[in-house]
Amino acid sequence: MKEVILLKSGEIALKGLNRSSFEDKMISNCRRALGDLGKFSFTKAQSTTYVSWQGDIEVDKAVERLSRVFGIAALCKACVVPKDYSAIEEAAAAYLADELQAARTFKVLAKRADKKFPMNSPQICIELGGFLLERFPHLKVDVENPEVLVTVEVRDFAAYIHGRQLPGAGGIPVGSSGRGMLLLSGGIDSPVAGVMMAKRGLELSAAHFFSPPYTSERALHKVKQLSRKMTPYCGEIRLHVVPFTEISEAIRESCPQEYATIIMRRYMMQIAELLAHRTGCAALITGESVGQVASQTMASLQCTGARLTLPVMRPVIGMDKEEIIRIARRVDTFELSVQPYDDCCTVFTPKRPKINPELGAVERAEEKLDRETLIQSALDGTQLESVRSDTVF
Ligand code: ATP
Ligand code: MG
Repeated sequence: MKEVILLKSGEIALKGLNRSSFEDKMISNCRRALGDLGKFSFTKAQSTTYVSWQGDIEVDKAVERLSRVFGIAALCKACVVPKDYSAIEEAAAAYLADELQAARTFKVLAKRADKKFPMNSPQICIELGGFLLERFPHLKVDVENPEVLVTVEVRDFAAYIHGRQLPGAGGIPVGSSGRGMLLLSGGIDSPVAGVMMAKRGLELSAAHFFSPPYTSERALHKVKQLSRKMTPYCGEIRLHVVPFTEISEAIRESCPQEYATIIMRRYMMQIAELLAHRTGCAALITGESVGQVASQTMASLQCTGARLTLPVMRPVIGMDKEEIIRIARRVDTFELSVQPYDDCCTVFTPKRPKINPELGAVERAEEKLDRETLIQSALDGTQLESVRSDTVF
């Protein structure tokens, strides 16, 4: 039996004249996600994309990978049948046998896009429903809440039969909104922030600030692994590893201790913005959440974000930790994020950080730093790595 995967568009379907470019982006992201699994072709029709292939492939693995590609509202495997009612009947019973055997209730849903097909949708539902009740006598029809929704779509060239649909990742395709620079630490929040902005169509670059020997190679390795964990959703991530030791030490030596974290954040933001300008990013992205720690009070956020020219996207700003963790678990970054690591901010964290800093006071506190030289030296030492799902560190 010939099988295909159907991808149902959500938000893309509402894109009017631009729809086709969104779909093309989504398809090229699907191709990349499927990578080595086989040779696939994609056909668009109304708000559905048909994925087909030659030879044997691991279909479930393909479905799983596609379920992480943004721009797809729902997806399912389907079998392709000639447009002949008796073929449809037999195929439905055979293709969905396991699902129907295991269920107690079902319903038939028919969609007849090809109006030349001799039976209309209600007729298909009645006939096929009766046929399946005879074949699977333990089943009952439940029109409200069926366990299996047997769907028959009669389209231009064939009929498609499928059962359970899986929820897709939603959102819009990565790359349809330009590129953003994610400040990626080794924690829980920033990977989630990155995935959330990828869901809104942003391709990701990332900046990680590391401070050897205060932070270990292991901590850096963890950040690289985290970025690889994000790639099934975000696609390739261009990771900038920025040496931050000189800046952290200079801050410790020349600035009042209670301002250390906020000044470090300001430097991170400034460097990230310069990298963003150089690499075509139109926004910065952070995992900040109001009130989470002293450096994320309203007053602190105003100081860290002051003087930046690019917009700062903080998608988890209004979420509590539990909500962020739920997403981290779903996108599978959580287990890695909670592994112990030494972050430069924790090493240099003051005992009594300023909770309500005032911008003028922060600027005075950092006056003694040779800003230009420190930033230039960090930029000179920055290394770029391209992280993909198959990258080996
Ligand atoms: P996360 O917020 O990712 O869980 P965290 O809680 O340790 O990590 P915070 O102290 O909450 O980090 O920092 C707030 C934000 O600042 C982070 O979400 C991240 O965007 C950015 N950030 C902090 N440390 C670094 C770093 N070493 N490199 C890059 N970005 C960082
Ligand atoms: Mg945080």
